[in-house]
Amino acid sequence: MRNSLAFISLGFLIISCGTQKTPQNVQTKPTLPKVAPAKTAEAPPRPKIHRESGEDFFRDNIADITKNDNTISYGSIVSAEPQRYKVVKTFFPAIAQNFRQKYIILHYTALDEDKSVTVLTQQSVSAHYLVNDQNDREIYQLVDENKRAYHAGISAWRNDKSLNDTSIGIEIVNSGYKVDSSGTKVFPDFSPSQVQKIAALVKDIATRYMIPPTNILAHSDIAPTRKSDPGPKFPWKQLYEEHQIGMWYDEGAKQVFYDSAVLEDYALQMTVPSFVFKIQTALKNFGYDILPNGTYDDATKKTVEAFQYHFRPQNYNGLMDAETWAILQALNQKYPVK
Ligand SMILES: [Zn+2]
Repeated sequence: MRNSLAFISLGFLIISCGTQKTPQNVQTKPTLPKVAPAKTAEAPPRPKIHRESGEDFFRDNIADITKNDNTISYGSIVSAEPQRYKVVKTFFPAIAQNFRQKYIILHYTALDEDKSVTVLTQQSVSAHYLVNDQNDREIYQLVDENKRAYHAGISAWRNDKSLNDTSIGIEIVNSGYKVDSSGTKVFPDFSPSQVQKIAALVKDIATRYMIPPTNILAHSDIAPTRKSDPGPKFPWKQLYEEHQIGMWYDEGAKQVFYDSAVLEDYALQMTVPSFVFKIQTALKNFGYDILPNGTYDDATKKTVEAFQYHFRPQNYNGLMDAETWAILQALNQKYPVK
């Protein structure tokens, strides 16, 4: 092992050297290098191996915890079992590794519990977890966290697309919206006990995978033209204030933006391409998959509506009013893309 590590160290030196060109038609005699042999690098101390159920694990992190998931507490280590060979885990973990799980996406099922279970286990859609609406202590797991579930569909946020690949999906039993006589979507509440379950579950997942607040999102955030779940009754503000989950704006920052913007005539400005372009660019900078084109089109309206479901749930009419605009700017200031 020590020889292997020394070889790896020398590898860096070899890679860093450039290739030397030999002039054509010039014969050169091979000469022995007059370089002192490199000193053998001492291997860093390895963490202790813990054996459990016949398997070896590392219990201690050897490096930056944000880039390393070598401890057993982050789940089982899945290894190959090639015929006639033994997979040696003594060299594990490498420092250069990271979690595949980058996002938590929240949904509602728009079905009762029995139908939710049937659809999510027997059909082509699924989620890692299903939170029922019973006042009990159970949360159902339907898919291993290390595997891909099919809950997000065509989706994007900031620089990422197809978020099924990198997310944990949580479905919540909730009947979904009904459209009233005036054409408004009316959404049902989530029960307090269900909210407590969701909070505990999201907190646990976000902590284990170090998922940042910017990556804990609604289905409607990552697919605003197609989806409206989990809707404006989902308690994002409560989760932020009581459980430090997800994003929320600071009231003072919002007020500063509001005071400077309140005199603008928003109904009129939505017909002004330069102002619409500014709105679309701010939504895009925040994370929404929107193409700034200067027209307040259906995609823009639905994206504003998705933003309002999440951050201004009292009024989700899809129009960029002064308050929505102030909240969006306060959020962009607080959660810039790094
Ligand atoms: Zn959904």
